Amino acid sequence: MIPFNKPFMTGKELWYISQAHAKGHLAGDGSFTRLCNQWIEQRTGSAKALLTHSCTAGLEMAALLSGVGPGDEVIMPSYTFVSTANAFVLRGAVPVFVDVRDDTLNLDERLVEEAVTDRTRAIVPVHYAGVGCEMDAIQAVAARHRLIVIEDAAQGVMSSYKGRPLGSIGDLAAISFHETKNVISGEGGALLVNNPSYAERAEIIREKGTNRSQFFRGQVDKYTWVDVGSSFLPGEIIAAFLWAQFEEVDAITRRRLSMWNTYHQWFAESEKAGKLRRPVIPAHCTHNAHMYYVLLPDLERRTAVIERLKASGVQSVFHYIPLHSAPAGRRYARAHGSLRVTDDISDRLLRLPMWVGMEDRQVEIIQTILSVL
Ligand SMILES: *Cc1c(COP(=O)(O)O)cnc(C)c1O
Repeated sequence: MIPFNKPFMTGKELWYISQAHAKGHLAGDGSFTRLCNQWIEQRTGSAKALLTHSCTAGLEMAALLSGVGPGDEVIMPSYTFVSTANAFVLRGAVPVFVDVRDDTLNLDERLVEEAVTDRTRAIVPVHYAGVGCEMDAIQAVAARHRLIVIEDAAQGVMSSYKGRPLGSIGDLAAISFHETKNVISGEGGALLVNNPSYAERAEIIREKGTNRSQFFRGQVDKYTWVDVGSSFLPGEIIAAFLWAQFEEVDAITRRRLSMWNTYHQWFAESEKAGKLRRPVIPAHCTHNAHMYYVLLPDLERRTAVIERLKASGVQSVFHYIPLHSAPAGRRYARAHGSLRVTDDISDRLLRLPMWVGMEDRQVEIIQTILSVL
């Protein structure tokens, strides 16, 4: 059996969790959370990082901070995870879906400006597979129309665009530490505040609408309810686990890149033979090997490949059902123009197993199975 994903542990996770307990602090915002926040700030250059329960929670905080309300429009791809859209639908806003590029499968920056209306408030680029969107073009459209840019960098930890870490470019960004991502804490995430004008309110919203963080820094003499908010902060058990992962992030990324390159080199032949298309990484992007996918010729071929792999004990998966064609997408969102590329690739994309601990031998087994197709 080769599973699609297997959560990796560095070995120090349980030790750090026991340390958190020994320090007598298991609620949120203890010393491990501080270490993790600082680590994210140092690695990305973001002005402020705040751990959250999930990337979903980070996106919900970003939606609150952006101030979008009923009827406001938010431009994003349809080819993404539901949380990208849901965070804004919860505020009454309308996701406006724009097609993706056929090379990186990222939001097509050339189609963004024509989707802008006088209700548009934000653009949400999603860095698919940890490969950067064309942020210069997206930021330029945002500047021309005074829109806020919120990066869905769920998959983008340790990737960069023109030398800038993903998650550090838009006004706000959210990253994920879900067990299927590169660096994990089971469930987990962070909000990155790059535009400092959102920093103070971000802390308040995350702390149930109170100024508790300012109180603990001695900036106010009592803490009280000052704004809307919720509980978006994880406990120290999660942060302690995550800290063990951060310590090993370079080794994790190296190992993933090595597996990714093994797949990529091997599939060069199949690509030449027209059997599939491999991922495209633009020269100005460095990626984190978040996933290895191939695009097969059509839905029938993909179904056959999944069955073939399954029969040999290899688990492979596909995603996403485009949001514009999902029941909630039809109810709460609208498409701008044709989503031809989105519809096409969602039928043909196949993700192959990749996790730290997987051996080269197992990658070879998968290749051997696929070579007979
Ligand atoms: C994983 C993912 C999310 C959600 O992350 P969670 O931490 O599970 O909430 C959001 N957007 C994208 C693009 C993702 O891949």
